[in-house]
Amino acid sequence: MADALASGASDHKVMRVRIPLSTHRHKKINTNMKEPIIKYVPLGGLEEIGRNCMFIENEDSIVIMDMGLQFPEDSTPGIDYIIPNIKYLESKKEKIRALIITHGHYDHIGAIPYVMTKLGNPTIYTSAIAREMILKRQDDFPNQPKLNIVTVKNGDTAKLSADIAVEFFDLDHTIPDTLGVVLKTPVGNIVHVTDFRFDYDDTGKPIAYDTFKRIGDMGVHTLIMESTAAEKEGQSVSERVVIKNLEDLFAKAKGRIIVGTFASMITRLGEIIKIASKLGRKAFIAGFSMKANLQIAQNLGYLKFEKDAVLPIEDLHKYKDEKVLIVCTGAQGESNAQLMKIATGQHRFITTKAGDSFILSSSIVPGNEGAVQILKDNLSRQGARVFQSSHIDIHSSGHGPKEDMKLMLQAMKPTYFIPVHGYYFMRAANRENAVDIGMPRENVLMLDNGMIAELTPESAVISKDQVESYMVMVDGLGVGDVGEVVLRDRLILSDEGMMVMIVTLDRKTGKLLKKPDIISRGFIYLKDNQELVEEVRRKVKNIVEKMPETQTLDPEFAKSLIRDQIGAFLYQRTKRRPMILPVVIEV
Ligand SMILES: [Zn+2]
Repeated sequence: MADALASGASDHKVMRVRIPLSTHRHKKINTNMKEPIIKYVPLGGLEEIGRNCMFIENEDSIVIMDMGLQFPEDSTPGIDYIIPNIKYLESKKEKIRALIITHGHYDHIGAIPYVMTKLGNPTIYTSAIAREMILKRQDDFPNQPKLNIVTVKNGDTAKLSADIAVEFFDLDHTIPDTLGVVLKTPVGNIVHVTDFRFDYDDTGKPIAYDTFKRIGDMGVHTLIMESTAAEKEGQSVSERVVIKNLEDLFAKAKGRIIVGTFASMITRLGEIIKIASKLGRKAFIAGFSMKANLQIAQNLGYLKFEKDAVLPIEDLHKYKDEKVLIVCTGAQGESNAQLMKIATGQHRFITTKAGDSFILSSSIVPGNEGAVQILKDNLSRQGARVFQSSHIDIHSSGHGPKEDMKLMLQAMKPTYFIPVHGYYFMRAANRENAVDIGMPRENVLMLDNGMIAELTPESAVISKDQVESYMVMVDGLGVGDVGEVVLRDRLILSDEGMMVMIVTLDRKTGKLLKKPDIISRGFIYLKDNQELVEEVRRKVKNIVEKMPETQTLDPEFAKSLIRDQIGAFLYQRTKRRPMILPVVIEV
């Protein structure tokens, strides 16, 4: 029996195609059972941006790297976050020796409060700043176990199990203390290069190249590296160039300067405050998360300013416009962020006025173009000038483009390469970067979430087995209780609306007691569609009256008949597939 609802749903579903790979074999097949094997498994971050999580496993231990969240997509309406699926890890939690967190961004730490108890609260190894950000987030979640966090920095080593050790090294990114990881295992060194970019000195020489070369010289069996900007041409714009451009722009402004950026771009935030001081302006921070991050960085000594460089936003009115610089969140046009509040006149302390210079110091994340356009329009209408990174280079991404990727590959000289972090398209571009610098194409392993790479001293093979990795959704207080079915319903409701038919039957005879009631939400406006509504009413009446004798007392049977036939009828008449919700009341 064709289910109108199900067939309707299939129209909405965007399919992700995974072409089954023939099992990837390199060099020789592993026949010697005693040869060490390390399994490498990404649980998230390979078919999306965010939800970064991966682990390595051998006979007696598991080491996890990152536990991030992903923000909702168009295909997940109403969802707060998507987190990694830890079912496999949960079943082997006694083997977990460590959770390594590479840096404090939410796509690397955000899922921690949802999983730690289930994983047996393993020891977390991370940098000082990420540690503070993890702990701050814990405050928002009740009933959390006390976390056991070991703070590590560049050059630190730790023994995680009988035969796995780890060494940490610095990476340049938009948050201080981003850590790369060398996992020293029986099969060789596995190096994880998380979010990073190269910084270049004034002569164009990459800074810190020698550190990476030293790690490369130790021998790298497999390099696991991010791919977020791997298809973009060129090399990273040095943060110094960005700062110079921002300073030039600030210097020209006559009135107030209002800079919008991400709360997580702590390094940039520090530089902006320094320029403000240099130009004789006081800095004011608008936005809770930005203020909190700044506080953390200051407490740990990462950012140092003169005494009243940063002042409370409540004191803004005490200063002349030309002495003011405001930094706030919301450069992506987020509806609940500070910048949009300012633009729409809802901010408690800041009202837009002619003479203001708004500087959006971040490139637009795809999907946010419309919101940013509205934001810019609103500000311009009120007489402000708006500058964006496409017009002047005032933004450097935290993710290295092509030339940065190639430099890292050259420094590390890995035997095998697994591109991670990003959609397949981005990771495939990173494979080309590796091929460009001379790596054999077959030594680049293209995994998807849940796939297993089996590493031995002499080989890297994609296993036929897989680990469960479908997304786990968080909606309000519920973790994982919104599944495929609920999502499908939400998608139909948001796309096509719903129609409810209420049928009142006599409990004893199964006969219709009154005309069916019809309710429509988001499908058609009843008043303007009387004819169609009457027709639906007649059809429902007909269906119920013509039910075979034997079935008249079965409300479920009545419901499925109504669902199918009314669904087909409405599609034929409107070419739409609303959710059909028959309700049978027996009195
Ligand atoms: Zn990051």
